[in-house]
Amino acid sequence: MAIRTIRTEGDPVLTKKCRPVEEMTPRILELTQDMLDTMYEEMGVGLAAPQVGILKRIVVIDVGDGPLVLINPEIVETSGEQTGDEGCLSVPGMSGQVTRPNYVKVKALDMNMEEQEYEGEGLLARAFCHELDHLDGKLYTELVEGELHRTTYDYDEE
Ligand code: ZN
Repeated sequence: MAIRTIRTEGDPVLTKKCRPVEEMTPRILELTQDMLDTMYEEMGVGLAAPQVGILKRIVVIDVGDGPLVLINPEIVETSGEQTGDEGCLSVPGMSGQVTRPNYVKVKALDMNMEEQEYEGEGLLARAFCHELDHLDGKLYTELVEGELHRTTYDYDEE
């Protein structure tokens, strides 16, 4: 078990586009395990590889239904709309209102590099959008309606 340091807003690594994972290697395996350990340690519900300084298309999510590891994830379908507070481990202590689709379908490779589909509504749909944005160097703060505030949130990626 290893906890990695979470990069925070202002670190250029958070604004870069991540590269796809070509093959499962011991290093990638270790990285995903460390990302899960780090997410749980920080009481997060999601973490993307660039948040620990690695520019690879890997996301981990656990909204309370067990861990998901998504490699090279892509959104294939969205519908509906939800507006709620969102937070990010890379923007500690802050949150802000963001509108996201209420339903999101994602395809991604699993730890065996086999393609899987995942469907999420509500919080999980929000987590998919938020975490996948990180892989393209986007932070939720770009999408906030109104102002960032210091308070509780519906989606604490965190
Ligand atoms: Zn985030």
